[in-house]
Amino acid sequence: MKRSSHARNEQFVFTLLIVFMLSIGAELQPCSASSADLQLEGFEYVKAKNFAKALECFNGALKEHPNSWAIMQSIGNCQMELGRYDAAIANLQKSIESGGLQASQCISMAAVYQRKGDAKKALNWLKLACSCEPSKASDPGIQAAMTRLLDPANNPTGSPTTPDYCSSLVSFKGWPQKAMPIKVYLRPNPQISGFFSVFSETIKDSLGQWRNATGNTISYKFVDSPESANLICDYTDHRELVSSQHDLGINGNTEMLVKQDNTPGSANIVVLVKDGPAAPFRNRALLTLCCLHEVGHALGMHGHSPNLHDVMFPVATLSGAATLSERDKNTIRRIYLR
Ligand SMILES: [Zn+2]
Repeated sequence: MKRSSHARNEQFVFTLLIVFMLSIGAELQPCSASSADLQLEGFEYVKAKNFAKALECFNGALKEHPNSWAIMQSIGNCQMELGRYDAAIANLQKSIESGGLQASQCISMAAVYQRKGDAKKALNWLKLACSCEPSKASDPGIQAAMTRLLDPANNPTGSPTTPDYCSSLVSFKGWPQKAMPIKVYLRPNPQISGFFSVFSETIKDSLGQWRNATGNTISYKFVDSPESANLICDYTDHRELVSSQHDLGINGNTEMLVKQDNTPGSANIVVLVKDGPAAPFRNRALLTLCCLHEVGHALGMHGHSPNLHDVMFPVATLSGAATLSERDKNTIRRIYLR
């Protein structure tokens, strides 16, 4: 077993930054008492991750101060959190037109493009933030975000319409036939034991979809202990366990030990099922997409697809059912059915 490991990880980079910026926006906006109250209430909802309610508050505040760039930015941030990326961009653009270009708006724009999976535009907006406010260039959060955005795994090249995306991946190497069936251990998390059955179902569904795509060339069985497994699957409500220097917007993480011949030796998937102990569990379809994506990495794909309809796109976006696309299926076949 070689010591080297690829960490293949994903996370939403900017959530904390956004919350931070929203509170700065509150200080910047001079306004009437009721508008201030509405904004403060909005920030409380943001903290509680209730973005629909927060949006209502900011919309109310904007009625009193229709030219406030800070409120427009808060609205844009909420739209982004609600997955309405075009509306978010439109509101942020209005905010820029109304208040002049601010570093915080650029960071919000970067966050939206990152969620859309457009690493290049996200990076350009971060660079713009640094030219608006040069101190941002030495901000460790911004530096870490830029490093992630520059990672070739987050900038898949190649055509989004070819039958498969092997050429867009940084590298790929499937598990050898002699390693089949892959021995999978699903590890219960005693802190969120009630979610174990949902997590197990989701991982089984994900493994099954990839296996079926290869006509059972990939096979797996479940084992009772981590010691006898070569694929360990964990779930967590601690965001720090799925963070790393790598991927963008998936909320999961796969680490792989590779053998001398570069084939997978063992892998560990960690999936974020809720963002903190008090938060609600994540949407089931998004969770399935995340598991499909991480299992894809664990099956030997390093890097991503440039097409947002593929589960191996660097950001989880619900554009339909949480199932493999034809390109996903063709890609795994090309890796395993040689
Ligand atoms: Zn990934």
